[in-house]
Amino acid sequence: MLYSELADVFERLDATGSRIEMTSILSEFFRTLDPESLRSTVYLSQGKLHPDYFPQEFGMADKLVLRAVSMASAKPYGEVEKLWIKEGDPGTVAALLIKGRGQMTLFSEPLTLERVVKGLTAIESTDGRDSQDRKMKQLFLLLRESGPAESKYLCRIVTGRMRVGAGAMTLLDALSEAFASREDRPEVERAYNITCDIGLVAETVASGGIDAIKNMHVSVGSPIKVMLAERLPSIPLIMEKMGGKCAMEFKYDGIRLQAHISKDSVRLYSRRLEDLTSNFPDVASELRARCKAEEAIIEGECVAVDPSTGAMLPFQTVTHRRKKHGMEKAVEDYPVRMFMFDILFIDGADMTTYPFADRRDRLARAFETSEKIGLTEMEVIESPEDGEAFFARALAAKSEGVMAKSLYQESVYRAGSRGFLWIKYKKDYEAALTDSFDLAVVGAFHGMGKRAGKYGALLMAVFDPETGKYGTVCKLGTGFDDAFLDGLPDMMSGHLSKGRPADVDAQMVPDIWFRPAVVLEVVAAEISQSPIHTAAFGIVKEGAGLGLRFPRFTGRIRTDKGPDQCTAAAELAEMYWAQEATDGPDP
Ligand code: ATP
Repeated sequence: MLYSELADVFERLDATGSRIEMTSILSEFFRTLDPESLRSTVYLSQGKLHPDYFPQEFGMADKLVLRAVSMASAKPYGEVEKLWIKEGDPGTVAALLIKGRGQMTLFSEPLTLERVVKGLTAIESTDGRDSQDRKMKQLFLLLRESGPAESKYLCRIVTGRMRVGAGAMTLLDALSEAFASREDRPEVERAYNITCDIGLVAETVASGGIDAIKNMHVSVGSPIKVMLAERLPSIPLIMEKMGGKCAMEFKYDGIRLQAHISKDSVRLYSRRLEDLTSNFPDVASELRARCKAEEAIIEGECVAVDPSTGAMLPFQTVTHRRKKHGMEKAVEDYPVRMFMFDILFIDGADMTTYPFADRRDRLARAFETSEKIGLTEMEVIESPEDGEAFFARALAAKSEGVMAKSLYQESVYRAGSRGFLWIKYKKDYEAALTDSFDLAVVGAFHGMGKRAGKYGALLMAVFDPETGKYGTVCKLGTGFDDAFLDGLPDMMSGHLSKGRPADVDAQMVPDIWFRPAVVLEVVAAEISQSPIHTAAFGIVKEGAGLGLRFPRFTGRIRTDKGPDQCTAAAELAEMYWAQEATDGPDP
């Protein structure tokens, strides 16, 4: 297949804001591809060569890309850079300059998808001495054969700007439409949630149809999207929702890890799908040593503990284990304990389809416990009074609250979804009106007075997985200490955007825009309808969004969450309805 066909599709996707239209453009195109090309196409449309859990680094800064553009367009570097300062995006610059260029090579061969994938793979894998020059040359070789649209998307891919609006949900819609039916959509999404590999799902449905999709199972080595909890504001409400009986567990405040245990190795993944094995080598080897099965996938919360008393320590302590350097010392200085709470696979059996009680029982039988690993504290609760007593016990043990888990037969492990099968209840819920929010930074305002020369406030947003867009929810200027304010420009420098990023919906215009990347935890006094904010736009009231009143940064940077894992628009709307105590739509 010619890469120009794919670039044309990207152009058409870029030109439409309608998800229905994107789905039909994609499904029509997908049908024309063989399964292998489809797999690469799906990855490329997300700016990647691999599944979500594979660390993707092309390692090309804008200026390096501009050098390749300069060579490929035969324009002096200064001219290219000038245009980039105006346009902000090396992709747009490449398209503009390459448009005016003649044919570069006399016998140039048309650029195929295969050659593009090969070229990008070469860029990705080049390291060591002169790697910057060699990456630049690889890109030049591709740009030399490219027309304007083709070069635009090549440059966007290598600089991490590939956002044609076709998020994972739209791709799944298109795959269902092309190779199955609308009714099969939940199965296709399930396959994605248990593999985190949209390319594999695409290839499978294209070659084996919906039956092959139904046959996809969890497997050791490929991370599973985590199941998430809903929240309710009191224990009696939780007991009512659970039908009078549930399992309650301590809610530990640490780092969630999904452990993939195979015969002689263990890999640990964060909820963002990062591989954290090297940060917790002690946990990995203990899990292997204490697991009675050959293969298993389990989940647990890793908490820092006081080595002399075994008491749990605050979340900040365990974050020392997320360092890139000096890990050996951190492992020694900050001992941890893994509290296991779920099992998703064991020796050939996919446990995600079993009810919670069966999973918990299987988990308990699969491991010997030790000082380093154990099960979460759990009790079956049958009255609100017992629930309150368990909650008090959880707080006394320095947990941040409780997790209630449904004992219904339907309480399967719902990968990638948030629902009332698990309900969280935290200490802060008693004091604050609502839970905290995890918000993506999308902009900044210059500071004045004491904050002159620094960022004075940040523009914060929630994410809507349905539309793939970020909607603004507040201007955040409280809760920052001096060290945080001083470090902000550095922390945000890699995410600067010349204009409003395509996936941000905003009416408020900050002085500086950022591509969504950094997530901060924020508390607020109230959620209110807002004429200027675009979060959950139109969900609660037509023509209005939702905003936060008196927002305050809690001091916690959510490095464990990607921007698309921040508070979702629908969640915000639910919290608004809960706060207003009116009935929203059924969850
Ligand atoms: P969410 O995970 O719901 O998006 P969050 O990351 O801000 O939100 P919380 O709202 O505090 O986290 O609660 C959910 C998290 O609690 C889980 O993702 C998990 O990491 C952690 N956790 C602690 N104890 C348990 C437990 N016993 N069972 C399940 N999860 C637990």
